[in-house]
Amino acid sequence: MSAPSSALALRSARRNALASLPAGFVVYRGPSLIDGSPIVVIVNTITSSENSKIGRMAQVWFLRSDVAPNVAIKSGRDVAICGGCPFANDNGCFVDMRPLMSVWHAFERGSYPDATPEQVGELIALAYNMGKNDGIRLGAYGDPAAAPFEVLEALALPVKGMGAATTGYTHAWGGYNAPGHLTHGAGTTHPDTLPTPACRRS
Ligand code: SF4
Repeated sequence: MSAPSSALALRSARRNALASLPAGFVVYRGPSLIDGSPIVVIVNTITSSENSKIGRMAQVWFLRSDVAPNVAIKSGRDVAICGGCPFANDNGCFVDMRPLMSVWHAFERGSYPDATPEQVGELIALAYNMGKNDGIRLGAYGDPAAAPFEVLEALALPVKGMGAATTGYTHAWGGYNAPGHLTHGAGTTHPDTLPTPACRRS
């Protein structure tokens, strides 16, 4: 096969891979770094639509895995993924509940297979390379400080390596119980990974 046809075949294979993606992936199941409650980190919209209100970004959702978001919000159990945010505990969070509950129900149905954050980061980078998104948004719902920094880093680095956007926001600059997450990760090594508002802009 000639070099140009090889390149075309590779491009076709990549396009096919993106076309057959599931609706999203679970990249972390484990304790919240904020309070130890069970949480999941879900990534969806890896190939985003042009008309998305929130831009063509792969979205990262931080959810409790043991209780629906609407119940967690009403009972204050959203502290596990929102920490000290002043809008938590049913206090005015303006994240749209419809997509949030849609993600929750899809998770409950088992629509999101498990994958490593490295694998999903590479997929997002590939989608960016194919013109299918503009980057990754770390925190469509919840605070990234709830999850291990290594998970966020593995998601973001391939995307950053492609020159795509990485946005996120945390209320946890001062602490919680994740100082390594914040000082090693967001605060010094990758200062542009977390400081831009994310879930607050839904
Ligand atoms: S703005 Fe973000 S961190 Fe604050 S309550 Fe809403 S989802 Fe949670």
